[in-house]
Amino acid sequence: MQEKKGIAILGSTGSIGTQALDVIESYPEVFDLQVITANTSADLLIEQAIKHQPNSVVIVDEHQFKKVQDALWDHDIHVYAGVDALSQVVDSNDVDTVLTAMVGYAGLRPTLAAIQAKKTIALANKETLVVAGELITKEAQKNGVNIYPVDSEHSAIFQCLIGEFHNPIEKIYLTASGGPFRGYSHEQLKHVTKAQALKHPNWEMGAKITIDSASMMNKGLEVIEAKWLFHLRPDQIDVIVHPQSIVHSLVQFEDGSMKAQMGLPDMKLPIQYAFTYPDRLKTDFPRFNFMDYPELTFEQPDLKTFSNLQLAFDALHTGGTVACALNAANEVAVDAFLKERISFLDISRINAETMNAVASISQPTLEDYIAVDAEARAHASNLCK
Ligand code: MG
Repeated sequence: MQEKKGIAILGSTGSIGTQALDVIESYPEVFDLQVITANTSADLLIEQAIKHQPNSVVIVDEHQFKKVQDALWDHDIHVYAGVDALSQVVDSNDVDTVLTAMVGYAGLRPTLAAIQAKKTIALANKETLVVAGELITKEAQKNGVNIYPVDSEHSAIFQCLIGEFHNPIEKIYLTASGGPFRGYSHEQLKHVTKAQALKHPNWEMGAKITIDSASMMNKGLEVIEAKWLFHLRPDQIDVIVHPQSIVHSLVQFEDGSMKAQMGLPDMKLPIQYAFTYPDRLKTDFPRFNFMDYPELTFEQPDLKTFSNLQLAFDALHTGGTVACALNAANEVAVDAFLKERISFLDISRINAETMNAVASISQPTLEDYIAVDAEARAHASNLCK
C-alpha cells in the first residue's frame, strides 16, 4: 500500500483551509493531516485540532498561545505560536505537501520556507506569486519543488496542460465571473456599499478575495499569478468575463486548438487535485447538468471602469517590484474599505497612485520586496486618511 500523504495547511481557519479539511477528512486512507495554523482565530483552530487531530498546530497571534495550549493539553498535539513557527513546522519529514491558504502578503515568507524545505506546494495564496513571483519561481526551481495551483482558474489551465507540457502555449484565457458589479458604470460604482461588494454571485470566499472579485483586482492578481506559474509573456494572457463560472479557464495551443476545464464552481475540486495530482479521486460533488445551463456566455471585461485589472496588466508589463507595490496598496485599501473608511472607487484610485509613487526595483531580492511592500503600505495608508 502506498504511504499516506502528509499535509500541512497554513491558514486552516479561512475559506480554503476549512474546505481543505473537508477534503482530507473524506479520504482518511489517502491523507494524513500533519499541521494546521491560524492567524488569530484561536477558537476555530482549537475546534479543528480536536476534530482532525493533526500532529502540530500554530497560532500566529502569540497572545493566544496559552489559550490554545490549555485547550489541547490532553491531546497528543504540539502547540506553537508566532510567525516563525509557520516556517519551522513545515520542515518536518512527515510533511509532503504544504497548502498555502493564508491571506495576502503574509503568505510570502512561510511559502518561501516551505520551498526551501523542499515541500510540494499547493498554492492558494496567490499574493505570494504576485509580490515575489520572480524570487519564488527561482527558489522552487533551485530546490526541485513543484508548485500546484489551487486557484480555480489556474487549476483549470494546469489540468488543460496535462499531457501537453511539451507543446508551447499560444495563449491562455482566464475566465472571470465579473462579480456582483458586472456591467456597472463608473457612476453606479460610486455608491456601492460594503454589503453589496461582499455578495458574490457564484463563489463563497473570504472577505478580502470577495472584495477583490468585485473590484476585478482578483483577476488582475490572477493574471500576474498565471505569468509566473506558466512562464507566460503578458501578451499571452487574456481575460474573458463568463458570468456562469462553469468554464474555469482555457488554453489555446499553437495549432489553434483550445482546451477548457469545466465544472460547477466548488473549490474542493482544485484543492483536492493539487493534493493528488496526477491522480483524480472519486467524489460525490454535484455534477454539472447542461440543462441547468443551456447558455454559457462570454463578454469583454471593462478595463476602463474596473481599472484594477488594467493596473495589473501595467504592473506585469513593467515587471520589477511594481506588482509588489500594487498588491500592498490593494491590501491596505481593501482593509480600509472593509472598515468603511473609504469608498469602493477609492480602492483602484489608491492602488494607481501608490503604484506610480513607489519606485520599482529590477531583479529584486527578498529584502527589496519587504522594503517596497512597507513603503507602498505607508503610502496607501496616507491616502486612506
Ligand atoms: Mg480564482
